[in-house]
Amino acid sequence: MDNKQPLVLAFDTSCDDTSVAVLKRRKVLSSVVSSQVDIHAEWGGVVPDIARREHEKNIPMVYDEALKKAKVKTEDIDYIASTYGPGLAIDLEIGLNFAKELAIKYSKPFIPVNHMEGHLLSGLLENSKGKAFTEDVEKAKKENSDNDGIKEELFPALGLLISGKHTELIYVKKVGDYVKLGQTLDDAVGEAFDKVGRILNFGYPGGPTLTEFAKKGESGKIEFPVPMKNSNDLNFSYSGLKTAALYKTKELREEGKKDKEWVYDFCRGFMDAIVESLVIKLESAIQEYGDVRSVFVGGGVFNSEEILREIGRVVRSYGLNYVYPAKEYRGDNAAMIGLVGYYKAQLGDYIEKHEEIEKVDRVPRLSL
Ligand code: ZN
Repeated sequence: MDNKQPLVLAFDTSCDDTSVAVLKRRKVLSSVVSSQVDIHAEWGGVVPDIARREHEKNIPMVYDEALKKAKVKTEDIDYIASTYGPGLAIDLEIGLNFAKELAIKYSKPFIPVNHMEGHLLSGLLENSKGKAFTEDVEKAKKENSDNDGIKEELFPALGLLISGKHTELIYVKKVGDYVKLGQTLDDAVGEAFDKVGRILNFGYPGGPTLTEFAKKGESGKIEFPVPMKNSNDLNFSYSGLKTAALYKTKELREEGKKDKEWVYDFCRGFMDAIVESLVIKLESAIQEYGDVRSVFVGGGVFNSEEILREIGRVVRSYGLNYVYPAKEYRGDNAAMIGLVGYYKAQLGDYIEKHEEIEKVDRVPRLSL
């Protein structure tokens, strides 16, 4: 086995996307994602039963396509990795069981991966030529020596994860060594976007429309309280903001104003409150943990260029490396799972005994 350039086959079915990827070291040889968003849009959110059925139907094809695109066979693979949590229980097990069966059938070492660790490290993925996907990360790579794939010079770091279900701040001592500093006490940013999108009749998912409309609005016209501004900790909370948005909508509609008269400024104000809440907590963490060299971000909510840019502004103002994923790796994908698999393989953290592989179970509520 060529340990310097191992091939990792990775699976993720933690929510509504079926995804399989092949990596060579940190390089993405293929990353195939079969999205179900159109199916779930009809229901206004992800329906776990329907997602499971779709995963079962799609996974053999997605797996074939990922291998074909990477021009490899299962026999050539060195490690098989799969998400085992967090996520929707009945969906997680489709990808996990598929991966476990393959690992046993082909006698490959198996690596269970925490989905959130994937999001956290997704900025370190590289293209097939070994270049980072973003200028910032390529620059950070050049300036920092690269110790066989585990860039110690980038650490310690802070990690900011913002996805549909998670909003977390993490202290990353190094790859595999994490301390959670704060998290949302109720809704995640992604949930707040979707719920407010629903209040405004944007359909599912609401986030993208809300983000687009915010661009057309003017700051300060409709204001929302910034959540947890003076909480003196590193936690987040978004259910109060959602309630404030609900009351504000009622008020405006009762005044007889048509939605289109205020909706852009409304989205602008809502977005400003979200961005400010994230910036305040990130800055507090940077000041509190003065030894950090980088800020890693990950998760689907970073598909909002504005959030990515505003966080970047703060990170750069402190002279820190900014490590964030390319657009296609911000949402759920198996490439990020393969990346964690690669790191774990380097650390010798994998399972070889078939009876041990069989015992690996999904953990729907898994923490970093
Ligand atoms: Zn995710």
